[in-house]
Amino acid sequence: MTKVPVGILGATGAVGQRFVQLLADHPWFEIAALGASDRSAGIRYSERRWVLQPDMPEAVRDMELRLGEPENFSDCRVIFSATPNDVAARVESEFAAAGYFVFTNAGPHRMDSDVPLMVTDVNPEHARLIRVQQKLRGWDGFIVANANCTATHLTAALKPLDDAFGLEKVFVVSMQAVSGAGYPGVPTMDITDNVIPYIGNEENKLEEEPHKMLGRLDGDHIEPADFILSAHCNRVHVLDGHTECVSVALRRKATPEEAAEALRSYRSLPQEMGLPSAPDPCIVVRDEPDRPQTRLDRMTGNGMATVIGRLRPDPILDLKFVLLGHNTIRGAAGGSVLNAELLLKQGYLKPA
Ligand code: NAP
Repeated sequence: MTKVPVGILGATGAVGQRFVQLLADHPWFEIAALGASDRSAGIRYSERRWVLQPDMPEAVRDMELRLGEPENFSDCRVIFSATPNDVAARVESEFAAAGYFVFTNAGPHRMDSDVPLMVTDVNPEHARLIRVQQKLRGWDGFIVANANCTATHLTAALKPLDDAFGLEKVFVVSMQAVSGAGYPGVPTMDITDNVIPYIGNEENKLEEEPHKMLGRLDGDHIEPADFILSAHCNRVHVLDGHTECVSVALRRKATPEEAAEALRSYRSLPQEMGLPSAPDPCIVVRDEPDRPQTRLDRMTGNGMATVIGRLRPDPILDLKFVLLGHNTIRGAAGGSVLNAELLLKQGYLKPA
């Protein structure tokens, strides 16, 4: 199979570097172009600081960074976007209008009614909104978004519970890694020996996005899921991996054992189709009293799984548990790559 040429916007950032890492040896996609700001355009990729392990892949070291405009990416068919929100708001529509298939990590288009907001294991059927979007906007290309990193893992955990028992209320407190703020991110003097109880614009995204993802596709729009969600978001001194303490009220009561079984047995289209980046299982339930732990568990399923533990009764709502997920892999670049794998297999990455 000829590999699909892809470009990465924001390739020098925290998410962009994960894209480079995940796509360097991908069986279906190959990196054809790397984009960044006008501060970096024109220089070799290896001249920018690489912050991941292992070292920067050899194949991209000499690639010249390009300014992220559609005319500079004509050798690509797919665009993975990891640009700041203000840039994404402007350029992603221009790329889609020019016929590119855009997979974005940025926020501006997530809640557009004709843009699928996809966690591939949760709502693969929402991909059908692509045809609505292309018709409405007159585009040959499209934009597909993946969710906020904290919302991604929360929604992955809520989906099996919603399917099995119905969700009524959700209360979540997050402890989010510093890489979630990008590179170089939060100053050391602010985060060392500290917990910061505020992440700008994060709580509203976490309270909003799961309703769309767990919603029902109804013709040309999504009917949002009907449950109440309240979120507290905190930044903590962890490099990668977001932890969330979650309490839920269910419409049909369930024991912790029944909930664990629903979570453990959950499978979806990416697992059935054997997509290259699909974690199998996509949810790992741990029985030890002190797991999941960030350092020990964030790479579960190559960073693509959501890890759940401490499932127990909640004296205020019904059940409570702790979840952990990698923010720049499943919560960002890996989530986009998995969406693209699904859509390639389903025939969406061809002219409409
Ligand atoms: P980051 O580390 O700050 O990287 C930003 C990237 O965008 C860099 O490559 C930067 O290039 C480029 N850029 C900045 N200004 C630009 C401009 N005017 N034109 C074109 N490119 C420009 O940020 P990040 O954490 O990777 O986040 C990227 C996006 O993903 C954001 O929208 C963020 O909200 C979203 N996201 C992040 C995470 C996470 O865990 N970090 C998770 C989910 C979603 P230069 O090096 O040239 O400045």
